Amino acid sequence: MEIAIIAHDGKKAEMVQFLNAHSDILHQKQISLVSTGTTGEKVLKAGFKVNALLSGPLGGDAQIASRVAEGKCNMVLFFRDPLDRHPHEPDVLMLMRLCDVHDVPLATNPATAELLIKAV
Ligand code: PGA
Repeated sequence: MEIAIIAHDGKKAEMVQFLNAHSDILHQKQISLVSTGTTGEKVLKAGFKVNALLSGPLGGDAQIASRVAEGKCNMVLFFRDPLDRHPHEPDVLMLMRLCDVHDVPLATNPATAELLIKAV
């Protein structure tokens, strides 16, 4: 099962806290992590294996959207910062749309991420 982790800058610390709180689940062999570039660096630093793609503004969210469309990615945990502007908002909308098109579970805040990870 592939889980995508994405965190906007204002939410990266919360994302790392989340990973550490659920490390037992996330370290399971059948789970692989994929993420956008800068998020991936933090995930790696926190001690997890991760396939880090491009940084969000350079197309990382679009790459994850493509994995969702191709059926490669099974869950998206997106720690969005609703209080900041993002140049790649169109890519973010595309990712969320494709999760809906392909019925892939998508969390856009930590509370929902918590519920989804408990269901894994
Ligand atoms: P980043 O991208 O992990 O490269 O910071 C995340 C995003 O802004 O979508």
